Amino acid sequence: NTMDTGWNLENSYLDLPEMFYTKVSPNSVSTPKIVIINNSLGKYLGLNTERLKSKENINLLVGNTLPESGFLLAQAYAGHQFGHFTMLGDGRAALIGEQITPQGERYDIQLKGSGRTPYSRGGDGRAGLGPMLREYIISEAMHNLQIPTTRSLAVIATGDKIYRETSLNGAVLTRVAKSHIRVGTFEYALRMGTKENLKALSDYTIKRHFPNIQSDENLYLSVLKEVIKVQARLISKWQLVGFIHGVMNTDNMTISGETIDYGPCAFMDSYSPKTVFSSIDRYGRYAYGNQPSIAKWNLGKFAETLLPLIDNDMDKSLELARNALQDFDGLYYNNWLTGMKSKLGIFNDEVEDKGIIEELLNLMEKHNADYTNTFISLTFDKLDGACLFSSEEFKKWNRKWNERLNSQGESKDLSKELMKKSNPSVIPRNHLVEEALESATKDGNYEPLFDLLDALSSPYEHLKVDDKYTKTPEPSSIQYRTYCGT
Ligand code: AMP
Ligand code: MG
Ligand code: MG
Repeated sequence: NTMDTGWNLENSYLDLPEMFYTKVSPNSVSTPKIVIINNSLGKYLGLNTERLKSKENINLLVGNTLPESGFLLAQAYAGHQFGHFTMLGDGRAALIGEQITPQGERYDIQLKGSGRTPYSRGGDGRAGLGPMLREYIISEAMHNLQIPTTRSLAVIATGDKIYRETSLNGAVLTRVAKSHIRVGTFEYALRMGTKENLKALSDYTIKRHFPNIQSDENLYLSVLKEVIKVQARLISKWQLVGFIHGVMNTDNMTISGETIDYGPCAFMDSYSPKTVFSSIDRYGRYAYGNQPSIAKWNLGKFAETLLPLIDNDMDKSLELARNALQDFDGLYYNNWLTGMKSKLGIFNDEVEDKGIIEELLNLMEKHNADYTNTFISLTFDKLDGACLFSSEEFKKWNRKWNERLNSQGESKDLSKELMKKSNPSVIPRNHLVEEALESATKDGNYEPLFDLLDALSSPYEHLKVDDKYTKTPEPSSIQYRTYCGT
């Protein structure tokens, strides 16, 4: 029963006009079984994960039983996918409600893969075990890397098959998010709703995510600026760890500034701005090096939706929104520069810093150097192994960098401490993720997956790491490919 498990659910989303959601009752699944549950996240949310594991309580997490409210809620949204506007919505996900934590915070609890909704279009509303475990691994890794993200409370196998190119085991992921409001939710409001509907969504968003701006003079310009700020911060963090989202459509960009929708995402091994993993991203629109400019493009779409609210004079609105948008570049760049300097142990500001960073990145690209491990090698003075380190150009760069470190007041030891805090040893490398998923989904052996999650839980504790998790992959002639929609 709900008292025992700690569920404390509300549905503030119902305060919005009806166009923003549909109440749904999911189709039941055969034999739900927990394959993984996140004890520390559960505890944070005020849940008793031991009790959640019981048969009757698992049923709530696959939609076999409804929450006390008596319904699940599918959200309506739209979005630009690869640049083209489309009507969307939760086609294979539904909210069981918003959990109020013991600290009084509010988190959406969403079931991903729980069945068809009015927004499913041709889809079956289901998800595969492999992809849901993949979302669990990578979202939790992102959280541990201190990057804002939706999180994963549990993955539950449904006992039903789903049919893609082959038949797969079905699963439901319990996704936890500050909210699921997207740029695409605003695009939906602009295209399908009245100005009142748009205003209701904006006011709800401000109340929920940006209460600090509630008394600002131009609320709707302020919300634009806040979202630009949180997204500039988020994207800089992606770039700093080499995360490639893979499908930065506007429906996959949150207003809260959390990373969302772990489909074709992957981490970069050797450094190249052109890196793309997604099989459907044929022209590299969402390549690593394009992520900041795509984020800005998406924020432009967000800005458009707010134009009717910013000022009654459209020209005035446009000018204010354009100016706000122009700030993205500087905000992003400052976050990125500060992060990069920390990765290199630099505390103060010098004009030469940008050049030092760019020169290193160029050398990494030229020598196919592993992004993560290059910074770890610099952190621990282990300049061997990679061909980058034996090149004359690198030696020259290394002298320049060391002179730069010597020119600041902080000691070398302090620099190294900063570098240790700023450079992760363990990232969810593609070959490790694949190996863990294959073992889990093909052999039912979850050991490699649990070991990987354990290694990913403390990416900045360098000493404890098994080599296995830091080694670069064997060179392969086959390009790593990711897929979405399974
Ligand atoms: P995504 O590419 O994951 O951002 O999903 C785009 C849209 O497709 C969203 O509206 C999803 O809800 C929907 N969708 C993805 N997979 C399915 C599925 N198996 N059944 C129904 N809708 C889906
Ligand atoms: Mg999506
Ligand atoms: Mg997806």
